[in-house]
Amino acid sequence: MKQPGRLTRFQQSLPAQAAIVTSNLNRYYLSGFLGTAGTLLVTKDKVFYLADGRYFEAVSQKVPFAKAVLVKSKGWDELAALCAELGIGQLAFEDLEMTVASYRALEKAMPGVSLVGLADALPRQRAIKDEQELSLIQKAQSVTDRAYQELLNFIRAGVTEREVAHRLEELMAGFGGQGLAFDTIAVAGTHSSQPHGRPSDYVLADGDFLTLDFGAAYEGYCSDMTRTVAIGHATDEMRLVYGTVLEAQQRAIEMIAAGVSCREVDALARSVMQKQGFEQYFVHSLGHSFGMEIHEQPGLSQASEQTLEAGMVMTVEPGIYLPGRFGVRIEDDVFVTQTGCINLTASPKELLIL
Ligand code: ZN
Ligand code: ZN
Repeated sequence: MKQPGRLTRFQQSLPAQAAIVTSNLNRYYLSGFLGTAGTLLVTKDKVFYLADGRYFEAVSQKVPFAKAVLVKSKGWDELAALCAELGIGQLAFEDLEMTVASYRALEKAMPGVSLVGLADALPRQRAIKDEQELSLIQKAQSVTDRAYQELLNFIRAGVTEREVAHRLEELMAGFGGQGLAFDTIAVAGTHSSQPHGRPSDYVLADGDFLTLDFGAAYEGYCSDMTRTVAIGHATDEMRLVYGTVLEAQQRAIEMIAAGVSCREVDALARSVMQKQGFEQYFVHSLGHSFGMEIHEQPGLSQASEQTLEAGMVMTVEPGIYLPGRFGVRIEDDVFVTQTGCINLTASPKELLIL
């Protein structure tokens, strides 16, 4: 279990005497225990897990590095008493996550304590994956790759987008996926020009592109991949668009390494599109970080001010969408290292005609 390491990193960067972590994902990230309620109180050298009757026993057993505290209801009064006992006058909280109602209840329960926002301290920490997180993402991605490989036998003219999506989801479950990382996208023909279109009853036909964007969930972690295949045949124009997207992706992946600006990676992919006159049809950013959530910080975008760091996991997903005609997107997941990156997506990318 790596959670003590995560807690130590969090404790080292506390912006106040102590912090509370109340959101399900961040509490799970730091404690290793997934529940739908509870508060983690973290000081520089102590950890308490305030849990109600539904979780108290499990927390006592499964989170050995935290002292379990039984609470009634939300536990704000018990938290206030604990803070008073520990002499905590300044408490950080998840201002990006907490509801206004919870904040008001917290303020009311501890009038003498000043509350400080954690801002993006936890999202920033979560951007750098540890070994355990990387292996869960790799497992989720290997489920995704295997399902795609098997799905290729199913895709043909005559099946519907919805049938393809359903088959893909069944295959991911069969290969050990524990759920979907997000709603599966399967769009063909003119629908493929909508980057995030939903699968419909459209029947795949000769000369269509089919774009599949999908991912599995495994032990709370996601994978995310996109492939575009042609049905029956591909015109020269389809091949040119496909080749341009693939080149943009490959060049961007070659550039990725710790220390490289996120914005510049996006700009490189855009410059490849520009050479072929397709730049205006690349209508989204190049990629995003992910982990427990499918979209995390930082992004590979024109607006990003961030720099890549070793340990980040990023998607690289350029696309060209010709409105009312067709679209192509290709997406891989990469793990950023000091000297480059490791591609976590094994599925081939040459144009397949099925
Ligand atoms: Zn995707
Ligand atoms: Zn993505």
